[in-house]
Amino acid sequence: MSECVFCKIVSGEIPSNKIYEDEKVMAFYDIAPKAPVHFLIIPKQHISGVDRIDGTNSKIISEIFETITKVAADLGVDSYRVVTNNGTQAGQTVFHLHFHVLGGGPLGDMA
Ligand code: 5GP
Ligand code: ZN
Repeated sequence: MSECVFCKIVSGEIPSNKIYEDEKVMAFYDIAPKAPVHFLIIPKQHISGVDRIDGTNSKIISEIFETITKVAADLGVDSYRVVTNNGTQAGQTVFHLHFHVLGGGPLGDMA
């Protein structure tokens, strides 16, 4: 996926403010934060979105959520929202699966 921004972040071609990395997942701060703490967590493997999760790749989702728990605790954030947008109308702009983790202060209401 040579044109994918997040694949380029995984490869190091595009720099990021990295928080956590292991062989399967990566967490880094969002370039345009929408909360006092706003990081993204992604699988290193290119999956374009939630609608491409199936029995062949779904194990990564539990690993992502285990990592969210660990990274949030490391950052001292105990109240946070996890969001993922699937599809253009939902606001997805980067078509590499990612979960937004927003916290560090009051977030306001959302559906
Ligand atoms: P989406 O709109 O697809 O749900 O979320 C994409 C997110 O990626 C946005 O919040 C946007 O600010 C972030 N983003 C886009 N390009 C980059 C980048 O090059 N570096 C980082 N750190 N975040 C990015
Ligand atoms: Zn990608």
